[in-house]
Amino acid sequence: MVMRRKILFDFADLRILNIECAVCKVQLRFDVSKSDFNVPDKCPSCGDVFGASKHHIEGYRHVFPGLSSSKHKIMIEVDEPEATTSLT
Ligand SMILES: [Zn+2]
Repeated sequence: MVMRRKILFDFADLRILNIECAVCKVQLRFDVSKSDFNVPDKCPSCGDVFGASKHHIEGYRHVFPGLSSSKHKIMIEVDEPEATTSLT
């Protein structure tokens, strides 16, 4: 039998959204508790256009207040990462 643990996140506890550039892997962080964060049009490191990714993050900014303050708690469930063991 395989047992898997789940982790539940309450939207009210979410603070940071990360975007990782598909080209150069640089990561930008956005504090979603603040409504005034700005997603750049392009990656500040390599200049790749964020395009739809920018649109998705900005869309989240519009739904976040409702998800985090809903009368009925709205949560995200993720699988707990498997522990890694070292063979050294
Ligand atoms: Zn980049």
